[in-house]
Amino acid sequence: MIGLVYKSTGSWYTVKTDLGATYLCRIKGKFRLQGIRSTNPIAVGDVVEFELETKNDEETGVIHSIHDRKNYIVRKSVNLSKQTHVIAANIDQVFLLVTIDNPPTFTSFIDRFLVTTEAYSIKTVLLFNKIDAYSKETLDEVRYLAHVYRSIGYECIGISAETGKNVDKVKAMMHGKVSMFAGHSGVGKSTLVNAIEPGLDLKTKEISVQHSQGQHTTTFAEMFDLSFDAKIIDTPGIKGFGVVDMEKEEISDYFPEFFAIKQNCKFNNCLHIEEPKCAIKDAVDKDEIAYSRYRSYVSIIEGEDEHYRTDNYN
Ligand code: GDP
Ligand code: ZN
Repeated sequence: MIGLVYKSTGSWYTVKTDLGATYLCRIKGKFRLQGIRSTNPIAVGDVVEFELETKNDEETGVIHSIHDRKNYIVRKSVNLSKQTHVIAANIDQVFLLVTIDNPPTFTSFIDRFLVTTEAYSIKTVLLFNKIDAYSKETLDEVRYLAHVYRSIGYECIGISAETGKNVDKVKAMMHGKVSMFAGHSGVGKSTLVNAIEPGLDLKTKEISVQHSQGQHTTTFAEMFDLSFDAKIIDTPGIKGFGVVDMEKEEISDYFPEFFAIKQNCKFNNCLHIEEPKCAIKDAVDKDEIAYSRYRSYVSIIEGEDEHYRTDNYN
């Protein structure tokens, strides 16, 4: 039988078949895991093959193989080994909620987040929330940012989770897909998810509060079916996902607007910082690349991590 993993508790996996039957499954044997050392061989979102077995009148499943993942996100393991923990797999899209104030979302945070999702090959849509509460000046800022990110290929929608403005557009984009919601605490993730599917209370919020003291509790991602052929993956307690082992030279690969231009740099190993005859710096001077994007790039290269960490997405 083939099914989709909805939940994992470490040793047991909740797997649902196409026909909607749910089985508790465990793992048998070793899994080939696409080149990563991971503390968990199977994650929420994985497609697995399993056999049923009956023990003491209970029917459970034994997973014997896992289908290739189209993508997956990890966080570094709490212990200091190089092992990673796979949070979820096969994610179709992430909606990043952005607010200009209450709380502010800085472009450096957005750009770091996008580097991460580009590296993972996960489509990201920017949702500018709370547009009902903004002044004219703040709305101008939303328009400017939406213009910057649209021009480099990201879909942007101004929404109000509170009044419901454009929530139907978000729902339409979720049809037939597996989605995640991200953004700083207080940007409106819970409010939006509730507007999309009344009654579905994601745990993201309460648990991230619980975690603010830094205590370690094991929590797991979980997938939910919505009432309109859409799926959400909730990631309680997960403070963020990191890209493991990214080289400096790689970072510009995840700035899509740098791609066509950087071939014109004089040095083919140009990092676009100090080098002469750098096509990227020229493009910034000519406003063909947004200065805020370039500044984010430089801060990532220079490792100015402290203020706006990518991995602070709850
Ligand atoms: P989360 O931490 O991302 O889940 O954020 P919440 O959904 O808890 O929202 C944080 C606060 O922002 C709450 O007081 C919400 O009522 C408020 N909020 C959320 N969305 C909107 C919105 O579209 N407009 C306004 N004015 N307030 C909102
Ligand atoms: Zn360059």
